[in-house]
Amino acid sequence: MPRQRGVSIKNERELGLMREAGRINALALAAAIAAVRPGVTTADLDAAAAEVLRKHGAKSAFKGYPGPYPFPAVTTICLNEELVHGIPGKRRLQEGEIVSIDCGAIVEGFVGDSAMTVAVGEVKADAQRIIDVTLRSLLDGIEKMRVGKRSGDVSAAIQACVENNGFQVVREYTGHGIGRLMHEDPQVPNYGKEGTGMTLRAGMTIALEPMVMAGNPETSVEDDRWTVISSDRMLTAHFEHTVAVTPNGPLVLTALDDKALDAIGLTRYNRFFAGRLHETAQ
Ligand code: MG
Ligand code: MG
Repeated sequence: MPRQRGVSIKNERELGLMREAGRINALALAAAIAAVRPGVTTADLDAAAAEVLRKHGAKSAFKGYPGPYPFPAVTTICLNEELVHGIPGKRRLQEGEIVSIDCGAIVEGFVGDSAMTVAVGEVKADAQRIIDVTLRSLLDGIEKMRVGKRSGDVSAAIQACVENNGFQVVREYTGHGIGRLMHEDPQVPNYGKEGTGMTLRAGMTIALEPMVMAGNPETSVEDDRWTVISSDRMLTAHFEHTVAVTPNGPLVLTALDDKALDAIGLTRYNRFFAGRLHETAQ
């Protein structure tokens, strides 16, 4: 995938545009999440996100994205053992499944990128646990997104949370710098060592995205040549926020304010959508 060389540092104006891209992306993702229930198709969820992007005059960062063939939708949607890059279609959600939705928006030339995994109706405890741990690992990583920290500090925090809870992180896919392009430098893997990697500076914007496996961390690609699954077909989960490093600490760009959260009414997912780092209850 195209990756800009070097790291782009955003000024105040550019961060404002990134924030707007992130906000609209969050609204699109929230619309898709709000539509999750048994019986709806993954194409229905994609349509809900597409409508929000259209209403705000945002372009999709995903549709047409180069790969084995141009990506055909505005979201990637993955069920159960599917990890990333799933193509929305006719498949209907069933009670007890888990679904991961990833969305990318372009607003005035800047990209927002965020993803989350949720339960379809009631799920077994092990399915809920991989969701909860993956979100917590994202929030632990965000907490390290501070001036003077190293990218390895972020990676190590994500890895520690995941592995201390008995899960595995994926090696082949990573978090990434983001700005005018969806994928810029640096790569921020979900594993690493403290005190290594790039030193974080104010104005850096990075999409952190823990991809977590219940079993073996190896992945395979399905016959559609896009959908990545766990090779052992055990459950996976994926959360992502676009985050800026600022002198005042991490700023979650793909978060929503209280008013937007109230309007959406997804209160049980507020911890994710608000980008809140310090709450124990979800
Ligand atoms: Mg994404
Ligand atoms: Mg991403």
